[in-house]
Amino acid sequence: MLLTLIAVLLPCCGLGFLVTDDFRDSSMYNADLYQGDIAGIDMTQDRNAIVEHVKLWPGASVYYELDPAVEYMRNDIMEAIGDYHNNTCVKFLPKTTITVDYIRIVNEPGCWSYVGRHGGMQKVSLGEGCEGKPTGIHELMHVIGFWHEQSRSDRDEYLEIIWENIFKGAEYNFEKLNLWENNLLGVEFDYDSIMLYGETAFSKDHKSITVKSKKEGVKLIPVYTKSGFSKTDILKINRLYECFGEVRPPRPEPPGFECNFEVDNCGFFNDYIEVRWIRNDKERAGNKGFYLEVTAELADRQSARLISPTAQNYGQVRACLKFKYYLEGSGAQSMVITQQGKRNTRIWSTEVVESKWKNVVLDIDLEGPTRFFIEAFTDIYHGSGVVALDIIV
Ligand SMILES: [Zn+2]
Repeated sequence: MLLTLIAVLLPCCGLGFLVTDDFRDSSMYNADLYQGDIAGIDMTQDRNAIVEHVKLWPGASVYYELDPAVEYMRNDIMEAIGDYHNNTCVKFLPKTTITVDYIRIVNEPGCWSYVGRHGGMQKVSLGEGCEGKPTGIHELMHVIGFWHEQSRSDRDEYLEIIWENIFKGAEYNFEKLNLWENNLLGVEFDYDSIMLYGETAFSKDHKSITVKSKKEGVKLIPVYTKSGFSKTDILKINRLYECFGEVRPPRPEPPGFECNFEVDNCGFFNDYIEVRWIRNDKERAGNKGFYLEVTAELADRQSARLISPTAQNYGQVRACLKFKYYLEGSGAQSMVITQQGKRNTRIWSTEVVESKWKNVVLDIDLEGPTRFFIEAFTDIYHGSGVVALDIIV
């Protein structure tokens, strides 16, 4: 029997916020927020970029409203929006009475945003020190689904992070995404991106360099001093939203998992010591090589429960579990699979004893990393029997 578990990753787009080396910079360094200016991410969890397409704004339309407290910077905000309208197909439209998902631009401490559409009203803060078009463009680029440029999975080829100059506790601002967590959209690292921090971002003394270019002659300047989008920023936005005939490249494949039990149990383990799934290579119904099995003789009328290693979700909300199974003999009763969480929901079971290996592909809902429990029921009073499992991908 083969059991295959497949995990697929979603790509994410990297977004970032800029930091400057003066008062204005520090507005973007909010120690409580992920990467200084990104809200809504639990820092103890795997960071899922908005690679999930569900977090894109349908029709490339973002609805907004301005809190009265940001009215004084309305011109800056409208200039930022104007740059989107002039260069991309992303539209910022005033919220209507029937709008469900929208951003509310507020004046709270610091400049920050969620990454991508989260549903319902979501805040974007342009607080004191966040004035100016470039900061507005930066925060709105988070809104539409971009992480910081320095978070790119390949950033170490382009940037040197000087960890000892970062103020204690702020190191997470310089974490990078895993390859499968970001869709690089087919473009090179961009030193001119509006999403790239300045070189003293999160500096312990506001002047020591924390991030510098590995390319000779390139100096990283604070976001607010940039003129606006780089050419590559515009291309990335247009690819992400498939504007003007651009095509969004597919998300990177997540790391695969496959176990055929040829070498070992791949991290699958028995829940009970006395009744166990055992690796066997006796040929059953044409299956060559090793697999795991429970025999009625050894199980002695007790169930045998196999626990999978933790399956990562890589930012996905759906994945497949694939496996091969086999039930033989009157003592084989059933095989049941449950998923951790959601009260250990039963996701699959069979009582069909056919002495044939069968392939199964299950759609799995994921809320995060999960485990699977594979339970074999046998009854020696009905005769001998085998429940077996093989190849998990
Ligand atoms: Zn940012």
